[in-house]
Amino acid sequence: MTNTNEETPVAKDFFARPVEEQNDFLSQTWCNQCQEMDLGMKNPKEFETSSRFWIEGECVKCGSPVVTEIQYEDEE
Ligand SMILES: [Zn+2]
Repeated sequence: MTNTNEETPVAKDFFARPVEEQNDFLSQTWCNQCQEMDLGMKNPKEFETSSRFWIEGECVKCGSPVVTEIQYEDEE
């Protein structure tokens, strides 16, 4: 891993988020395996860089990895 221009992600505590946000992230998902949205995820783990963060989990239905990514926006 010497040729990456992306900074090392920092692991965050997903459960430090407000419960409403947790529920949103856990329910608003897209599963590539099921090809279905909003199936939900379990075992969420949160990671962050300076430009974005994302939640990694497992599809509730099939157990495949599910990632929900959020870009930070620079809007006034
Ligand atoms: Zn699935």
